[in-house]
Amino acid sequence: MLPTIWLTLTIAGVAVPVVWRERTAAEAAAGIVGEFERASVTIWIWGGLRGDVARSVLCHEIVHAIIHLFAISMPEGDDEPAAGSLGAHTYAVLAPYLNFPNPPWGSQ
Ligand SMILES: [Zn+2]
Repeated sequence: MLPTIWLTLTIAGVAVPVVWRERTAAEAAAGIVGEFERASVTIWIWGGLRGDVARSVLCHEIVHAIIHLFAISMPEGDDEPAAGSLGAHTYAVLAPYLNFPNPPWGSQ
């Protein structure tokens, strides 16, 4: 799968592309399925996820992006508990209302 832009979000006035792509072998071994990359201001999501899981991961990565883009000074990684709890809760509450488009392969 070539990297594919799923959608572009505007967070704190910054355009943040959300990109589907394959995982590296190291990411797969570590169980990583998504990331907010601070340097490139990009969210990537592993393209092999089901749509509902991908939306949940996206909520998690959005929390990382909010923390970084609103200039909350926190070392990368220290924000993991916040992204874990807020991302999961956000998805649980908002899932019926999220209008993120389906992944390119049409999975729900
Ligand atoms: Zn995280």
